[in-house]
Amino acid sequence: MTVSPELRGTQADTALKTPALLIEDVSHSYRERRALDHVSFDVQQGTFAVLLGLNGAGKTTLFSLVTRLYATQSGAIAVLGFDVARDPAQALSRLGVVFQARTLDFDLTVMQNLLYHASLHGIGGREGRELAEETLARTQMRDRAQDKVRVLSGGQMRRIEIARALLHRPSLLLLDEPTVGLDVNARKSILRYVRELVADENIGVLWTTHLIDEVDDSDDLIILHRGRVLAKGIAGDLVREAGASNVAGAFERIIAAERSEVEA
Ligand code: ATP
Repeated sequence: MTVSPELRGTQADTALKTPALLIEDVSHSYRERRALDHVSFDVQQGTFAVLLGLNGAGKTTLFSLVTRLYATQSGAIAVLGFDVARDPAQALSRLGVVFQARTLDFDLTVMQNLLYHASLHGIGGREGRELAEETLARTQMRDRAQDKVRVLSGGQMRRIEIARALLHRPSLLLLDEPTVGLDVNARKSILRYVRELVADENIGVLWTTHLIDEVDDSDDLIILHRGRVLAKGIAGDLVREAGASNVAGAFERIIAAERSEVEA
């Protein structure tokens, strides 16, 4: 399967309606175990989308496919119109990723970590330094530039990882359970910060979590369960459609409906 022709090509960056991320009919199996089953959804530019799923739902597998850690077995994935299989360099240059596991070098300073990332993206010298300083200012971490990463708190490290992921000015930011291990205040602060980024910079964000309280009524919500998308849409609309009073209630009803379908 290929990405629709109108979503591909050199004009992709300028086409306003091109989604930041497009997942079309993606399936993935580890030997006989199916981890993703005909998954389709998109993340529009300037949108905060939450991929909500319990353990084993397939969230990390999907991330691994978007970031090309694994090759796509079936279906298609495009970042701002660039197919990750056919045009990986173009697609990946428009992508920023914050992985679940910490990936900063603790023995380097914040600035050194950012410069290293910039050079991996082919941005060196003065340009790299300027971008790093600009990104630190955007993440309100400028005063920590010369600190070693190991002296930062968990929440500050997350901010630096987000700063690093934004350094090369991606159109799509993927965050895989970014609040794992953070206390409630740090969680709220990171969430608020990323939502502001979406509003200020028109990037698309895919925020992966199993924590229902991280979903806001105005978010785009994709519920992934055992490899299948059970519901997608504006969270508030899904709550109403499920006849629930909040996202947690809607999630429970949607999962229960799927369970009874499987058992029938
Ligand atoms: P969690 O929230 O626990 O990290 P997840 O939603 O990220 O879960 P995945 O890690 O993508 O889910 O796993 C989806 C399914 O694929 C699970 O049944 C898991 O056991 C299986 N799986 C994941 N990685 C592998 C692998 N490398 N080999 C075999 N099976 C795997």
